[in-house]
Amino acid sequence: MGERARVVICGAGPSGLTAALFLARQGIEVLVLERWSEVFEDPRAATFHPPTMEMYEEVGVTQRLHDLGIVAPTWQFHDRREGLVAEYDLSVLSEVTRYPYRLQCEQHKLCRILLEKLEAFENCTIRWGADVSEVRQDETGAEAVLADGEVVRGAWLLGSDGGRSVVRKSAGIGFEGFTYEERFLVITTTHDFQPAGYAFSNYVSDPKEWTALFKVPGRTPEGLWRVVFPVPVEAAEAALLSHESAAERVAGFRPEDAPFDVVHTNLYQVHQRVATSYRAGRVFVSGDAAHVNNPLGGMGMNFGIHDAISFADLLGQVMLGGAEASLMDRYDRQRRKIAHDYLQSMTISNKKVMEERDPEIRKLRQQEMRETAADREKLFAFLYRTSMLEGLKAAAAIA
Ligand SMILES: Cc1cc2nc3c(=O)[nH]c(=O)nc-3n(C[C@H](O)[C@H](O)[C@H](O)COP(=O)(O)OP(=O)(O)OC[C@H]3O[C@@H](n4cnc5c(N)ncnc54)[C@H](O)[C@@H]3O)c2cc1C
Repeated sequence: MGERARVVICGAGPSGLTAALFLARQGIEVLVLERWSEVFEDPRAATFHPPTMEMYEEVGVTQRLHDLGIVAPTWQFHDRREGLVAEYDLSVLSEVTRYPYRLQCEQHKLCRILLEKLEAFENCTIRWGADVSEVRQDETGAEAVLADGEVVRGAWLLGSDGGRSVVRKSAGIGFEGFTYEERFLVITTTHDFQPAGYAFSNYVSDPKEWTALFKVPGRTPEGLWRVVFPVPVEAAEAALLSHESAAERVAGFRPEDAPFDVVHTNLYQVHQRVATSYRAGRVFVSGDAAHVNNPLGGMGMNFGIHDAISFADLLGQVMLGGAEASLMDRYDRQRRKIAHDYLQSMTISNKKVMEERDPEIRKLRQQEMRETAADREKLFAFLYRTSMLEGLKAAAAIA
């Protein structure tokens, strides 16, 4: 296949590399353009949900994730004052998935695994240091214009270039929603929260300072813990990022006195937005370029991976199976609808529950959580939804 039949993907993050792998394995020519010279290692996503592990199974990525990751059979909801509220046991999903648990593994390790898998495909090229500054299209193809003026052409173009997507903006696609006032501080620490009774994945509500707390493999057998806090908009960045002040925040969560290190701190602005369309002619968006959300529930990256696999599947039918190009509208219809109905609605509501100020509502929510965890039918329905299985079923039902 020549240039005219190739797919150009902008961005070598989880979504772009997944699309590349699922297109390349069909024999489609793929060119990935990535701005940086290597995989970026900032502490971002680390939770894999059951359907993502199922989808990656046939390309061997799931096995590699298990080699490197930590299985989390349960996750917990705590109240900072009351302690443990509910523990959700994912084994209840074993009748509908081969992976009835969460898997904790850093997203940069996933990117390396995907790159490793892509090495087997001569029809896939990754160009590092290729910064896309504009996209344009005509009736037969789409082009990425690089910062140095070079023009790269393909039959189709996918923007998997993150929340600030140049592809999305350049294609004239809107990004509707809102931005939270507070920022999110992510602290990576050696402190082990497990002896205090925490699971490998936890949400701790508090009207003043809620937190999400989860374990990641890191580089040693002991692993590391990530702690996410909201911080007020007026707080000075340098003070927030200092390891001393981060250590004080972590210390608020440890009853015992064992020494620990702060390994990393990072500050994020958090948005809830969805692209107004996932398709503009021959140009598409996936992953954070198509939707952004708060990290409570660990869904953003997983959702972007599902976008990529859906895109590759539909485009394969068009490029190789003789399907009409209009089939690609289904990608927009299915993925955008569930981004609103599931990804946005669940993450917005997760944050509300975490920060609820009204003591009566807090009590009521906690009572509901206890009842859900104790009732098999309710637990199944709740985990089926929060593990992203229900959203995928809803997407599949959209023609
Ligand atoms: C603190 C935090 C915790 C999170 N936790 C979770 C979690 O547990 N589970 C989960 O599912 N999600 C989580 N997320 C969300 C997750 O990190 C993102 O959804 C995910 O990174 C999106 O992947 P992507 O491939 O769409 O975009 P990105 O990972 O942003 O990748 C985009 C790529 O495009 C490249 N690029 C950008 N612009 C250009 C350009 N102009 N030209 C060429 N290349 C370009 C970038 O360099 C980058 O490599 C978390 C996010 C944060 C901030």
